[in-house]
Amino acid sequence: MTSVDPGRRRPIPFVALDEPRYGEVVEVAPLVRRVVAANPSKFTYTGTGTYLVGDREVAVIDPGPRLAAHQDALQAALAGRRVVAVLVTHCHADHSTLAPWLAEHAGAPTVAIGPHRTGGDDWPHEAWPSFPVPDDAPSTDADVASDEAYDLAFTPDRTVADDAVAAHGDGWTIRAVTTPGHASNHACYALDAAGTRSLFTGDHIMGWSTTVVSPPDGDMAQYLASLRRVIDGRYDTLYPTHGAAVTDPGPFLDAYLAHRLHREAQVLGAVADGLGTLAEMVPALYADVRPALHAAAARSVFAHLRQLTDDGRVGVEGGGPAHPAARYVSR
Ligand SMILES: [Zn+2]
Repeated sequence: MTSVDPGRRRPIPFVALDEPRYGEVVEVAPLVRRVVAANPSKFTYTGTGTYLVGDREVAVIDPGPRLAAHQDALQAALAGRRVVAVLVTHCHADHSTLAPWLAEHAGAPTVAIGPHRTGGDDWPHEAWPSFPVPDDAPSTDADVASDEAYDLAFTPDRTVADDAVAAHGDGWTIRAVTTPGHASNHACYALDAAGTRSLFTGDHIMGWSTTVVSPPDGDMAQYLASLRRVIDGRYDTLYPTHGAAVTDPGPFLDAYLAHRLHREAQVLGAVADGLGTLAEMVPALYADVRPALHAAAARSVFAHLRQLTDDGRVGVEGGGPAHPAARYVSR
């Protein structure tokens, strides 16, 4: 038996997106419209929400996946308007793969903080523990992957620096807010329009779920710093690429951060209790989660261990950098 106590988690006030109405243009706020692509999955919730910001002059945020129906829907939604920029939050395939087509179609540049930045090579498959899945697990669990696909081909026509203007049009300005963590090239986009300040959060903050932080490209220390940065920004509304708008960001973000810190404390507690490897601690920490998800959970636990090792709060037995197959010890 283990003494790891999953403890009381502060619930995150997730928001559900009503019927996604695929392909339809939905006005979510003045100057903000959304078209949802029909690519629902465990990573994308009901699908990728592409935002069209502005009226006559429009910035498109996260064009989405290369699906003919979504392409047609965007083409129709943008008819009669001038696209000034195609903004991409990060180069995961469900966000960026339609960007080159849209840029060409609209005659506008793609804009991002940069192309994929490798966070180093992934560890070999054998380095990660495997977790037995019961024979009677639902077949859909077989689809659960531990990471999202990278769109390595994506290279923005224009890179934008942190806090610089990414695009502007009639009555609105959008600035880049660099937010690495989910992906090393992740940015959010802050909109100033009609006296309100809102933030398009990509996958950094999702309205329906916590975010995947999967090393090596995902980085927990960066993620927490980026989360605190958005909290400090005190935006009126958050618009995640997947899911509904978060209209009361303060309590939502506090709970979102608390969830990570709670998990970090659990990881520290597990190490203190002698559960020193991913294979030992993941089933204990995720006892309430289906075994089919434990491989993905191991990535997240490892993200915490990597940060804790870097911070000197846990050690690696035998020394060396954090590694998925290492044994961790208390410091
Ligand atoms: Zn992503």
